[in-house]
Amino acid sequence: MSNPIIAITGAGSGIGRALAQLANRRGYRLALADINLAAIEALRLELGLDATHCLTNELDVSDFEAVNAWRDQILSVFGGVDIVINNAGIALIANAEVQSNADIERIMDVNFWGVVYGSKAFLPLLRQSKDPHLVNVSSIFGIMAVPSQSAYNASKFAVRGYTEALRQEVEEDGIHVCCVHPGGIKTNIVQSATILNTDRNREQAIADFDTMAPTTPAQAAETIFRAIDRRQNRCLIGRDAKWMSLLT
Ligand code: NAD
Repeated sequence: MSNPIIAITGAGSGIGRALAQLANRRGYRLALADINLAAIEALRLELGLDATHCLTNELDVSDFEAVNAWRDQILSVFGGVDIVINNAGIALIANAEVQSNADIERIMDVNFWGVVYGSKAFLPLLRQSKDPHLVNVSSIFGIMAVPSQSAYNASKFAVRGYTEALRQEVEEDGIHVCCVHPGGIKTNIVQSATILNTDRNREQAIADFDTMAPTTPAQAAETIFRAIDRRQNRCLIGRDAKWMSLLT
């Protein structure tokens, strides 16, 4: 049997990158997408893979036509897909009153619509797999709300609601759907965040986050694959996983 195929968005950094590394070790053919093409190309070279084992595509997940085109390219190169991980995401740290509508729209476009587009585009292809998995990445902030995260909270609560409803629609057809809730994984998410509050500077936000983020991306990737292997509907990862489970 030929190697299964995994498609990962936001594979250029953090959790997505670690998922790609682990999937490669597990023998998957990789379809990697990121808005930062250089990052996934560098990863492909680091893994020593050519285009027959690792497809790299520059992709903005908030562009539905582009997501469909990526899906079509995966179909033509690999002939299908077995696991889709809608992982790409961005952060906005700002009190609600200082967020512009454009800031909020961008967060919703990438974090929520990116997941919707990735789910809609790939479900027909997943139906052709013998062991299909759809994994959507929400957050601890898709379970609990905190100050300065209202737009991010909204996007991640939306991912959770969308994914949990979708799961109930497709699980009888054999498609496994998992919603992932990381909380405190040491990645670049805060470095890349839009930070608007005047009372919090970027260095402080990064220092706070690093203190709260003892979990490595590699550990997060292991936990996500364990959830896939066990066909869990929900995957809680990180410092707060234990008490998150009490809330869900
Ligand atoms: P990261 O910043 O290290 O990686 C995110 C990747 O997504 C980057 O490579 C970036 O270029 C890419 N990306 C950003 N916008 C994109 C777009 N429009 N289209 C395609 N790619 C895009 O962050 P991470 O921590 O690895 O985040 C991965 C996911 O995990 C995100 O959905 C994030 O919200 C979620 N998450 C992370 C944490 C954490 O503690 N790190 C906690 C909760 C949720």
